[in-house]
Amino acid sequence: MYKYQKNQYGCPVQCKYCVITKVDSRRNMWNKKTIIGLNKAVTIFNPPPNLEDTESLKEFYEFPIELFRGDIVGFNAISDPFWPKYRKELDYFLDNVSKVAKIIVCVTKFKISDELLQKLSKIPNFRLNVSITGLDFIENTKTKDRLDLLKRAKDFNIKAFPIIHPYIAGLSDLSFLKDLKNMGYQQIDVKGLRYNKETMSSWMPEKSKKYYENTQEHEILPEDGWREKISSAGMELKSLKDWYSIDPGQDIHLNEKTAEKYVNKILKYANITSSDSNENVIKASIKRRL
Ligand code: SF4
Repeated sequence: MYKYQKNQYGCPVQCKYCVITKVDSRRNMWNKKTIIGLNKAVTIFNPPPNLEDTESLKEFYEFPIELFRGDIVGFNAISDPFWPKYRKELDYFLDNVSKVAKIIVCVTKFKISDELLQKLSKIPNFRLNVSITGLDFIENTKTKDRLDLLKRAKDFNIKAFPIIHPYIAGLSDLSFLKDLKNMGYQQIDVKGLRYNKETMSSWMPEKSKKYYENTQEHEILPEDGWREKISSAGMELKSLKDWYSIDPGQDIHLNEKTAEKYVNKILKYANITSSDSNENVIKASIKRRL
């Protein structure tokens, strides 16, 4: 698992549905600029894919962290945040962005060490999102390892949340839901798939394709019974955005004028990665800082 070369770009988890590498519209976006991603729930701070690119590295370490004040900020959504190659950048994020943001967050599929969990547990405004999909055969990671991570996160008292990202109709095996419930997870979020025929048709069975063909890389979440599976496991559907608001982290609030100024500055560096309109993403981004 996680065989990677030191200078490999991308992500060692190598999901066959990855929006960063397998979906043209997204890949083109990230090929232009990488440092900031923006959606309705979070702002994401990305280290450079090529750590030997000294200009990009300088841009990362000199980014005005103050612009994250009062926000919810994630680390590295163009790879896995816990890929050891980024440990130095992760530590920089944890040590610095945690001081100005309401919440800092990592979304992962990695199996991480107890040493790292120990460090994360000491950061009160840190949140862990574990992406668990039931798609082991198209990911370089296993469901059992993600269940183990979610269990250890509980043991370390880390506020963690599972997310099915993406759910693929006819393919995702959701039998892990009962294990999550037994561990004490009550809520889960579910996201759809962006389908690219060229990169995904070779592994997707016909029974699934019917939901995704001709969907032009829009995010698709078919109603094929996943909701019922969540409720019969005794769990509740909750969006990540709503989960963050249950425990809103550090008591840092900007006035509206400053929040707007900061968001306008961030936009100069950012790709908007939401399926919602840019206008709604910008509004949500301002609101998070108030
Ligand atoms: S873990 Fe995320 S970034 Fe890595 S390959 Fe999978 S979808 Fe892409």
